[in-house]
Amino acid sequence: MSRFWSPVVGELSPYVPGEQPKLQDLVKLNTNEHPLGPSPKALQAMQAACNDSLKLYPDPGSERLRRAVAAHHQVQPDQVFVGNGSDEILAHTFQALLKHDGPLLFPDITYSFYPVYCGLYQIAYQPVPLKDDFSIDVQDYLPSAGRQAGGIIFPNPNAPTGRALPLSDIERIVAANPDIVVVIDEAYVDFGAESAASLISRYENLLVIQTLSKSRSLAGLRVGYAVGSRVLIEALERVKNSFNSYPIDRLAEAGAVASIEDTDYFEHACQFVIATRTALVSQLQALGFEVLPSAANFVFARHPGHDGAALAAALRERSIIVRHFKQARIDQFLRITVGTESQCARLIETLKAILA
Ligand SMILES: *Cc1c(COP(=O)(O)O)cnc(C)c1O
Repeated sequence: MSRFWSPVVGELSPYVPGEQPKLQDLVKLNTNEHPLGPSPKALQAMQAACNDSLKLYPDPGSERLRRAVAAHHQVQPDQVFVGNGSDEILAHTFQALLKHDGPLLFPDITYSFYPVYCGLYQIAYQPVPLKDDFSIDVQDYLPSAGRQAGGIIFPNPNAPTGRALPLSDIERIVAANPDIVVVIDEAYVDFGAESAASLISRYENLLVIQTLSKSRSLAGLRVGYAVGSRVLIEALERVKNSFNSYPIDRLAEAGAVASIEDTDYFEHACQFVIATRTALVSQLQALGFEVLPSAANFVFARHPGHDGAALAAALRERSIIVRHFKQARIDQFLRITVGTESQCARLIETLKAILA
């Protein structure tokens, strides 16, 4: 705390991103990046955009990108908001749509950025415990006597568990809460869950957020988007235009549009991860791990005979990094990103040696 700081700054407990090590030759399975590279068409589009036009500001409305997202989800461009990574969109969403008198509800085990945004924007929240099998109990998010929630947010599939809810359950939650905003953070949806974007024309209170960081292998580009009703999108636009009018730069817009239009590459890249995940899960199970059912590009696993923190440290000593959370209920688990086939093979060989 310094006397120069605004009072709120001293109170913040910021998000700690997964490590981005500088060391070479690491098997990096800790931040859920895609094992394959971005679409070659996206790379070409960005190279082509790297010219004298960079002296000009980008389109503040990112029209081309919003049209591409709208076509992909079969919605209208004015039902789309784009931002500098979905983290930025989440930040705007917390401020614009989730700060109300009642507490914001989200699972006790979920994306750890949510409580951080609550701290930044001074939003009251109430963590809702996941069931013992780490799934979301839909019942917990239906209105109940004596509780007036101010909003609801969770990822589908959830992070870091990887468990997904069927679309019918999402719809029950959205339909039961017409007076508050329900946000579904679909960072991992393309790896095996069903998007709620198809519901937005029927539910004014639903906001669906996606990112190009995971399934489109563009974490370095920082592009995400939200789809929702016009009233919700307008709230996000109002905050954005009070914060940064040009969140999407020219190169990012060119790359993101080309990536979204390259459907063939996208489907291939998702199928690759799904097939590699299936193989990884059975190999981990063969080593005695309990693995939660995953619809994401990572698996969440624990070994009954070995401590989670100790396993993460032992892997690290052998140049493999996975994510371990020092948090109640999940401190025995490792979150392991689905890597390339050779990365997964090295992980399994190394775990065999550690467990022996
Ligand atoms: C990775 C992730 C994000 C953030 O993605 P960016 O678009 O890279 O900011 C948001 N939500 C969840 C649950 C994530 O795992």
